[in-house]
Amino acid sequence: MTDCTYCGCPVEAHDPVFVSDSPDGAPTGQFCNYGCLSAHIDEAGLTTGTACEWSPNQ
Ligand SMILES: [Zn+2]
Repeated sequence: MTDCTYCGCPVEAHDPVFVSDSPDGAPTGQFCNYGCLSAHIDEAGLTTGTACEWSPNQ
């Protein structure tokens, strides 16, 4: 069983999403679905201070 990085539920019970921050592609996080992934990103502030700055106004 693999637990969701965000909520701790077994991701196999849902439609799991795997993410990787490492160059070799090894999974560093797994989530039940995109909802948990999105919530984790918001909570961890992962969209702040990244190199990818995109604005809908530009
Ligand atoms: Zn989850």
